[in-house]
Amino acid sequence: MKTIFTFLSLLTFALINAQDTYLQCGKIVDIESGKVLSEKTIIVSGNKIKGIENGFVTGSSSDELIDLKDKTILPGFIDMHVHIESESSPSRYLERFTKNEADVAFQSTVYAKRTLMAGFTTVRDLGGSGVNISLRDAINKGIVVGPRIFTAGKSLATTGGHADPTNGTRKDLMGDPGPNEGVVNSPEDGRKAVRQRYKDGADVIKITATGGVLSVAKNGQNPQFTLEEIKAITETAKDYGMLTAAHAHGDEGMQRAIKGGIKTIEHGTLMSEETMGLMVEYDAYMVPTLSAGKEAARLAEIPNYLPPVVAKKALEIGPKLEATFAKAYKKGVNIAFGTDSGVSPHGENAKEFIYMVKAGMPIIESLRSATITNAKLLGESKLGLIKEGFIADIIAVNANPIENVETLTNVIFVMKEGVIYKQ
Ligand SMILES: [Zn+2]
Repeated sequence: MKTIFTFLSLLTFALINAQDTYLQCGKIVDIESGKVLSEKTIIVSGNKIKGIENGFVTGSSSDELIDLKDKTILPGFIDMHVHIESESSPSRYLERFTKNEADVAFQSTVYAKRTLMAGFTTVRDLGGSGVNISLRDAINKGIVVGPRIFTAGKSLATTGGHADPTNGTRKDLMGDPGPNEGVVNSPEDGRKAVRQRYKDGADVIKITATGGVLSVAKNGQNPQFTLEEIKAITETAKDYGMLTAAHAHGDEGMQRAIKGGIKTIEHGTLMSEETMGLMVEYDAYMVPTLSAGKEAARLAEIPNYLPPVVAKKALEIGPKLEATFAKAYKKGVNIAFGTDSGVSPHGENAKEFIYMVKAGMPIIESLRSATITNAKLLGESKLGLIKEGFIADIIAVNANPIENVETLTNVIFVMKEGVIYKQ
């Protein structure tokens, strides 16, 4: 009895004297107003922002003080398109035969850490082997250091489509993958595949609505799902509260995806003006992944890096992305920040800001797309802003990014859920 009493009083003491963190910030980018605020103190208590005070305020002696007086502070970034399990390499196409699941898992922890250290406190993973689900859970439990993950688990494709897991293999290894493996060929299959992802523990649904660049297949842009299949998938995803994303380069497949109820169009490379109009009409979002377009085109120039069938597509499709994005932005299409990291190296996610600005999107708009826009899409009402009551995902850079976008590629302070990971 006495022991329980002592324990309870200790617990009460600890709660009353819980340590807060005072971040003295030289500048804060106010994402909503677009203004840069000077000399503020952010008070973090537990995993939340408790308040923001004017000037440099100090707490009690038990509180932690962090000096960021010569830094610019931003909310942690959200990347809507990564593949956290893998990264491009010349042996990529062999790896599925040589790597065990544990190899993929260990490697993914390295990519996760790099991503967080680059200031990306949340990512949406758009397809891997299923290790991504375990990785998300391990990060949530504090076993592994990495960003908060929302994952698709395994992407959905049609037979021979962009995410068919046995594309390009020897016939006897091809088998006939079905909904359980993420391959669907009817609305019925589509419903089953979504339910299987839900059972696996995925958060979102990703389909490959058209051909893609990096798969060993001839066509990088043909439509690969029927409208009925897409509708069955999005309706089922809605039943399970899962956000839907479609990889799409070609225009016809993109139109079917939008009309079928898909929320985010990934890449959107060959989007016509008519389709841009549809995007606006259906309130769909373009996730531009300019980083991937540039990286695929770069890799295609390195002899023997990509298989010839892939290199050809990379040179045709990759370079078109930037102009399409520039046009779509001008036409008023919603833009959600996303890189397709895994094609480009993990931890270089912030280069996307440089590409977006170069293509004509004002820096504050691109910062909004990586914070409030993506938080809203993910249904996370307490992410994406430095504001009282919000989750304490806070990063710092050396310069004011409104004047110097390159500074975003050198994040020097990272806090996620009130815990400091980089300082
Ligand atoms: Zn991707």
